[in-house]
Formats: sequence, C-alpha cells, structure tokens
Amino acid sequence: MSDSTAPRNNFIRELVVEDVETNRFGRPLTTRFPPEPNGFLHIGHAKSICLNFGLARDFNGKVNLRFDDTNPATEDIKYVEAIKDDVRWLGFEWNEEHYASDYFEQLYEIAERLVSKGKAYVDSQNEEQIREGRGTVIAPGTPSPYRNRSVEENLDLLRRMRAGEFPDGAHVLRARIDMAHPNMIMRDPLLLRIRHAHHYRRGDAWCIYPLYDFAHGLSDAIEGITRSLCTLEFKDSRDIYDWLVREAGFENPPIQIEFARLEIDYTVLSKRKLLRLVNEGFVAGWDDPRMPTLAGLRRRGVTPEAIRNFADTIGVARKPARVELPTFEHAVRDDLNMRVPRVMAVLKPLKIVLTNYPEDEVEELDAPYYPHDVPLEGSRKVPFSREIYIERDDFMEDPPKKFFRLAPGREVRLRYAYLITCQSVVKNDAGEIVELQCTYDPATRGGDAPDGRRVQGTIHWVSAARGVDAEVRLYDKLFSVPDPEADDADFTTSLNAESLVVVEGAKVEPSVLADPIGSKYQFERTGYFVKDQDSAPDRPVFNRTVTLRDSWAKMKV
Ligand code: ATP
Ligand code: MG
Repeated sequence: MSDSTAPRNNFIRELVVEDVETNRFGRPLTTRFPPEPNGFLHIGHAKSICLNFGLARDFNGKVNLRFDDTNPATEDIKYVEAIKDDVRWLGFEWNEEHYASDYFEQLYEIAERLVSKGKAYVDSQNEEQIREGRGTVIAPGTPSPYRNRSVEENLDLLRRMRAGEFPDGAHVLRARIDMAHPNMIMRDPLLLRIRHAHHYRRGDAWCIYPLYDFAHGLSDAIEGITRSLCTLEFKDSRDIYDWLVREAGFENPPIQIEFARLEIDYTVLSKRKLLRLVNEGFVAGWDDPRMPTLAGLRRRGVTPEAIRNFADTIGVARKPARVELPTFEHAVRDDLNMRVPRVMAVLKPLKIVLTNYPEDEVEELDAPYYPHDVPLEGSRKVPFSREIYIERDDFMEDPPKKFFRLAPGREVRLRYAYLITCQSVVKNDAGEIVELQCTYDPATRGGDAPDGRRVQGTIHWVSAARGVDAEVRLYDKLFSVPDPEADDADFTTSLNAESLVVVEGAKVEPSVLADPIGSKYQFERTGYFVKDQDSAPDRPVFNRTVTLRDSWAKMKV
C-alpha cells in the first residue's frame, strides 16, 4: 500500500469525524504522543505515532510531542534526543514540543486547589499501610486515619512537603474520592510523593513529584488535547483521568480512548525489557539490528515507509491481537523490492577456475540494477575473470534430481555472464571440495546460447580478481518462541542463540564500495541487505534486513 492511498478507517477515526462535524471540543482536533524518556522508541510506539500524527494530518489538527518526564530516577536527556530523532526519521513533525516537567508548577497549584476543596489530603501512612488500606477487588478499602485532616493542616503539610522539610516517604498527597470504589484506582489515588532526587531537566528545583495518573491527564488538558489516545492498559485509569480534569476545572476537557497495543511474535515490546537486553549485554545496544526499536530497525535496513505501511496494514482496534512476524516482514520486503538495486554477493564462496578463459583478462559485463517489474532505471558494470566465486550451496557433487544448479558435468548460467560447465572437482587432503574446474562457452556472453540450448539454473557469482571481501551479519528472530512473555520463566531464557550469525569471508561485487553507509540492496537470490556503519572503506559490512521470502529455509537443498 502506498502513502497516497486513503488511510484505513477505524473506530477512533469514526469518533474523530464526529468530533469535527459537531465541533465537540470547540477547538481543532489535537492529539499528542507522550513518551516517557526512559528508553528508545520501538515499533509499538510507531503504531501510536502513526495514529496520532496521522489523525492530526488528516483532520487539519495539531499534534504535540510531549515527554511525560515525571520520574527522576529513570529519565535522561539522551532518550529525549533519540526519541526526537526517531519521530522525525519516521517522517513526522510535531506542532509543539512539551515536557510534563514544565507543568510541575501548574500541577502543584492544582494540588493546592484540590486540597482547598476538600478533594485531596496529605496521608502520612507508609507505602505498605497505604497498599493494605486499599482493599482488594472484592473487599472495599479502609480509610486512612489521616483522611479527615482539616484543609488548613493539609495545606500546611503540602507546602512543607514542597519546601523539602520531610524525607522521602514521610507523606504523600492523595485524592479524596471513595475508598470503596469498584475501580481500585479510584480509592484515593496518590497524586504527589516526596523524592529528593535530581531531575534531568528541573535539576533540584523539586522534591515532590507527580504520579503518572496525576500528571498525564492534566498535562493533556493544559495543552488543550481533544482526544487522548492510549493503550488498553490505561483503561482503568480513565476514571481518574476524568475526575482530575473535571475537578481541576477544565472546560471541554480531553477524552481518553484506548486501543490495543501492538504485540509482534518473536520479540518483546516493552521499554523495561528492552532496557534489560541492553544493560545485561544480550544485544549490542539500543540500535542493535535485532532490536524492535526504531533505531534497531533503521540499522537493520528497514525504511520508515515500510513501518508506516505496516502500521496501516495492521490497523487500530480495541481488541488485543498478536501480529505474526510474516506480516511485518512482508511490509519490509514489499517496500524494498520496489526501491533497491540488485547486486551480487557470495556469502559462502566456492572458487571456480574457468580453464579456457584467458589468464589476466577482465571484462566488464553490463548488469541492470532492477528487474523488469520495478519501474526504475540503472545498471552497472560487473567485472568477470578467469577465477570466480559461487555459493557453496549452488554446487552438489552428487545432486538429487531436482537440483538445477551446478554439478559435475552440468551446465548452468552465470547471471549476466556466460554458460559454464563443471568439468572436475578439486579436493584437499581432508576430502573437502576446495575448487571447481569449469569451462565457459564464449558464444554465450550475456547468458544466451546461440544454438538455442537451454540450461535449468542461473546462479550468482563474484569475480575473484575484483571481488571485495565483506563481513555479512545474518540477523534472525531475537527470540526462539513466538511469545517470550507467555510463561513464568524470565523472558531472556528464550532468546534465540542464532539471532546473529556473522559471515566473515563473503565476497561482493566492487560496485558497492563507493556507496554510502545505509545503502540498501537486494543481494540476488539471498536477501535484502544494508551497508552498516561499521564498514571500513575497503571492507564493507552488510546487515541482512530480511530474507527474500519466509520459505527460504525450506528451499535450501
Ligand atoms: P513500554 O511498555 O514499552 O515501556 P510505555 O507505554 O510504557 O511502553 P511510553 O513512553 O509511556 O511507554 O509510551 C508512549 C506512548 O506509546 C503511550 O501512549 C503508549 O500507550 C504508546 N505505546 C507504548 N507501547 C505501545 C505498543 N506496543 N503499541 C502501541 N502503542 C504503544
Ligand atoms: Mg508504560
């Protein structure tokens, strides 16, 4: 699906159409993408970004990038920068950039207002007492002994909390709602807690920090958001969201809608878990090409268009559903197929000597970059010489019937070059095949025999004289089971030990040497690859983005 096709409808779009038609909020559609800067964005976030930015674009609305940075312990400016880079890379630009930490003053004022109205109180129980007092889903909670403090006492304590008079945990500010509420979140939720901690943006200006539920909805309301789109795990938070924006006095406050988060087979989409993979050294970093992060996918060779098309294909629904890996890989292949040049690389080289080809001759053969069904033009010269490499797997000494590649006495076509026939097999002392002696037919330049004889197979190759040594990194599924979070065992126990296979001695045609880092190719018959940042000028490194098709493993003879 191209970007020009109309966006797919979904239940959120339908609500937004109605908002716009009835002018429900008295202001243009305004959405936001609200990451906490405690990790890199992953493809699940991309789904949310495409939704929020897509709606703003399609309904002439606004979209803010807001960092929900209310936890001084985990947040960092490096994540802010990475998140901004990733959103832009994905192809989106925000209208306004905000930080929940810029609203600490406003949130504090709201807190005082709630106290003054008798809607919030300072609780001096400890964490455990508060948890116990909350009750269970079947039993109502018990009111805190501090619940009926006077407004004056509460205000005094709150001001002293802010002034830094108390140690961490001495008091908290709680909303005063209903200790028997069927939604446990509404049983006097915590609003502010004491944390004598340095915040990456606010420094030491604050020693009380808002809880997520307190900051999130009110930040939306302060920014004039109309639809606050979030994932299903926040469903139970909607009651407190509505209570807070109402009690704080916002007119036409934002309305929260929940949708199903993206889950993809063979990976995890949780920043906390991805952070563990990074910190515990299971991957090389946030941009390891096996990671489902946008930085990882970028380095893997996936394009922003592929991710946007994928988001469009999976759509937005209320019900959770896992996406199978082939759905994602299909979007990646579909996009690369139409845009990247085809070149030749041999991953596991087997040397061929063309015994009837002149010793020192090198000829340059024309090779188009694109197949006929890709509407792009271009070609390069590929050097051909007496010694070439083919894939080891493209030769069998004792082939089964359906093996249409090279074998003793058999003739195959070398792509863009000549027909060759295998005359003899050279082995070392250990009995391993080290070389094939073949002859070529000079009359078949370009690949066709003037006498009309046919060959069954066409294989790719690289000139030994002119080919370039390359490192090829074959990436595969990060986990060996579809749902690494399914059972009680730690998710790291199901990491796929073969998720990265490094091929050191690959050979690639010289045309790719001059290409910049990030250049993408189809290596003919092998897969899609991207030139990695670890490349040296004379020794490129390529990452496999995706195989040519998912049945590739089965096709290998
Ligand atoms: P994680 O669980 O990965 O840490 P998060 O929700 O805690 O994700 P945030 O930075 O708070 O991370 O998320 C920013 C936004 O992205 C939120 O609105 C959240 O709902 C959305 N989001 C996060 N993960 C997914 C996902 N897998 N699919 C769709 N949206 C997601
Ligand atoms: Mg979260």
